[in-house]
Amino acid sequence: METAIAKSLKQVIDKVNSAIKNSTKTSRCTIVGASKTKPLELLQQAYDAGLRHFGENYVDEIVTKAPKLPQDIKWHYIGHLQTNKIKQVLVPNLYMLETIDSIKLATKVNKECQKLSKKLKVLIQVKTSTEDTKSGVSTEDAPALVEFIMTQCPNLEFSGLMTIGYEGDENAFIQLYDLKIEICEKFKLNKDEIELSMGMSQDFEKAILYGSTNVRIGTTIFGAREYPMKAQCKEEHIDVAETKQNEQQSQKKETETQQEGKKSE
Ligand SMILES: *Cc1c(COP(=O)(O)O)cnc(C)c1O
Repeated sequence: METAIAKSLKQVIDKVNSAIKNSTKTSRCTIVGASKTKPLELLQQAYDAGLRHFGENYVDEIVTKAPKLPQDIKWHYIGHLQTNKIKQVLVPNLYMLETIDSIKLATKVNKECQKLSKKLKVLIQVKTSTEDTKSGVSTEDAPALVEFIMTQCPNLEFSGLMTIGYEGDENAFIQLYDLKIEICEKFKLNKDEIELSMGMSQDFEKAILYGSTNVRIGTTIFGAREYPMKAQCKEEHIDVAETKQNEQQSQKKETETQQEGKKSE
């Protein structure tokens, strides 16, 4: 029998593919399963349903989960990274660190990667809202950090920009897209190769319309998190209803989704 997660994932793939078709700003998008707080069995189910990119927010969780799951998983670290946890977060199959937000952090991550002879893809986390609890560099400071990584951090590969922002905040999406264009022009980078990580369960389709190439989706794939993360309790209730609805819809759409699914992997 097909798992609930497989059904939800199919529906997400379907929506991602339609959003890509309707977007003039991107022609591809990776789905990253944001699996924080979720047990191994559920990650394995998502893996069995075809998901290969997973994102964790907490170093302790990625350290516990990564060795116990298939090694072809491409892990993204999407949480705030403290410098004393860098060594641990560098699990063998860490694919991308999405949250570089200072020269100090870039320097230290580069140094640890050097020791392991590892080249690591990194995104710069940009603060696109005025809410001061969110980490990230300002849009003004981002180009200097890109330049630092490109010139001073040989073991880091600057791969794009990431933002969290407020749910559905078009302004955040627009700011990040414009910043990507600015950076690509300034540093002569190919804009088709530079990632924009934005969009979550509630707003990923919109984010893709605005150019996202990397959506981080938690509750819509894995179901509501059982214990509230920080101040997200209110959102969780919406997500529960959403997920149930999604499951019902995805049952109907199953056959058409199967074909579509291949494109976004
Ligand atoms: C939890 C989390 C997500 C996923 O959030 P959902 O609303 O559950 O899809 C995405 N990005 C980051 C940084 C997160 O912490």
